[in-house]
Parts: sequence; structure tokens; C-alpha cells
Amino acid sequence: MKPDTPCVYVGDELARYGFGEGHPFGPDRLGAFWQQACAVGLDRQVRQCAPVSVERAVIERFHTPDYVETVIRQSATGEGYLDCGDTPAFPGIYESACYVVGSVLDAIERILDGDGRQAFVPIAGLHHARRDRAAGFCVFNDCGIAIETLRRQHGLQRIAYVDIDAHHGDGVFYSFEQDPDLSFADLHEDGRYLYPGTGRETETGAGVARGTKLNIPMEPGADDAAFLEAWERVEAFIDAARPEFILFQCGADSIAGDPITHLRYTPAAHRYATQQLLRLARRHCAGRLLAMGGGGYNRGNLALAWTAVVQVLVSG
Ligand SMILES: [Zn+2]
Repeated sequence: MKPDTPCVYVGDELARYGFGEGHPFGPDRLGAFWQQACAVGLDRQVRQCAPVSVERAVIERFHTPDYVETVIRQSATGEGYLDCGDTPAFPGIYESACYVVGSVLDAIERILDGDGRQAFVPIAGLHHARRDRAAGFCVFNDCGIAIETLRRQHGLQRIAYVDIDAHHGDGVFYSFEQDPDLSFADLHEDGRYLYPGTGRETETGAGVARGTKLNIPMEPGADDAAFLEAWERVEAFIDAARPEFILFQCGADSIAGDPITHLRYTPAAHRYATQQLLRLARRHCAGRLLAMGGGGYNRGNLALAWTAVVQVLVSG
């Protein structure tokens, strides 16, 4: 296997992060993706990596100890909600969420060590969780923990976060709103029509970080042509930021036919975004690009979109 073969994380520990059969975020999502990936031969072209867990202290690089304690407690009983009604607890939810975070951090280590310059973690990109609470199916914000870890453990400073999930990445945006070294670009369905209701064009960062965040709300029904037009701004923005590492939340719920959103892209949008981010990663940071699956509740859509992302990582 060539040293720059991309890493893809698959395994039951990661699949188990889901809220039960029949739930939009069910435990069958990883399997739906991997079946498609294998059908086109990707299983032989990527470095398959087993999910990895983490210690509590790692979670607390981003989350408050009180919140982590709450998750551990509710994970033991499996009862109640971790937020106001979107994110139910289930027995072992803490352990499952730790595998999401650990796999993302393992991917970062492999990328920085040169053991694959790119990686994809399908069950990850849980961009709604705040430092002190769960939100929108997201228990621990692996994106936020990744940013803190890139800074504290790996000494990187300028990080880019790009998000094409239908929902605004509010948990990342507000946690780093005042951070001038986190370049944030997010294309999402206009918050007037979709959860979480945030991400207006005027939200560009706060204080010294003003201008380091790019929010582009898309009209319901926006198609690939609308995506491509908006994407040009994202690309120019990330290019100008000269990142040392690129995080990509490639949520598939922005594709036509998702049961809970109203955008109408095709997987070609995800393919194109990956191609362009890979180009930028090669220009600025030796190809360091980590893709995280994010949302996507139509199983056929997520299988095609995520497979397209990995195909680009494989073929360049
Ligand atoms: Zn979403």
C-alpha cells in the first residue's frame, strides 16, 4: 500500500453511534456507506482503520467537565434526553461518542505522521454539540475537539473548517466565533427554514476574528448550479487563509431527497468540493485533509455522496 493511501474508519464501534433502528440518525448509516464503497472497489484502495476510543481528558479539551459527567451518567441508564428533545440518551452513548472522537483524532495523527495524507471518518462531523451541551443528534463535537487538539497537541495554528451539510455548523461557529485563526466556511440551508436557525451572512466572526468566518445561507431547493456559484466564494476564502490543516464536514443531507432538509444538490457537489479542497490542501498544507461524514438521512444519498468523497481522496 502506498504511503499516501487515504485512511477510512470502519467498524461496529463507530456504527453504534446512532439513536436506534428507524431513527434518521440510526446505526445503519455506516453500513449503508460501506456497502456502496465496497461495490465500487474502494475497500481495496483505502487503508481501512479500526475505530479508536479516547480518554475523558481528551473530550474535555473542548467540552466542560460538568457536561461530560452528565453524558456518562445518562449513558449508564440510557434514559432521558441530552438536550431539549432531539438527542436521546441510550445505554453506551458515552462509549460510542468516544469512538467518534477517537477515530477523528487517530486520523489526524496518521495524516500528520504521513501515514496517509487524507482520511475519512464516516460517523463524525457532529457539528451541533456545544461546549456544555448536546444538540441535534450530536453528543461530542469531534470537529471542535479536533481543532483544540491540532492546536494543543500538534502545535498548528491556522486551521480551516469547511461545512457543506444542510444544517449550519453552529457548535463549531459559536465555539470559535472569536478565534481569528479558525477560518470557517459554511454553506447551509437558510436558517429561516431549517434547524438550527443560525448562520446568517452577517455572522462573520466576533472581535479580532471579524472577517474570518463565511456563512452562506442557501435557499430551500438550491441545486448544484447554486452550490457551484456559492462554492467559488468558499474556495477563494480558504485559499486566502493559507491553512495548515483542512477539516471538511461533508454532510449528505444537502442532497435532493433527504427526509429532513430542503436542499437539492447531487453527489456531484460533494465530489467537486472534495476535489477543490484537496487542491487547496496540496497548495497550502502538504495535502492534509480530513473529511467527516456529518449528516445525511437518506441512506442511498449518503452512500453515494460519501463514496464520491473517498473516490476523490483515492484518485486525487
Ligand atoms: Zn445536517
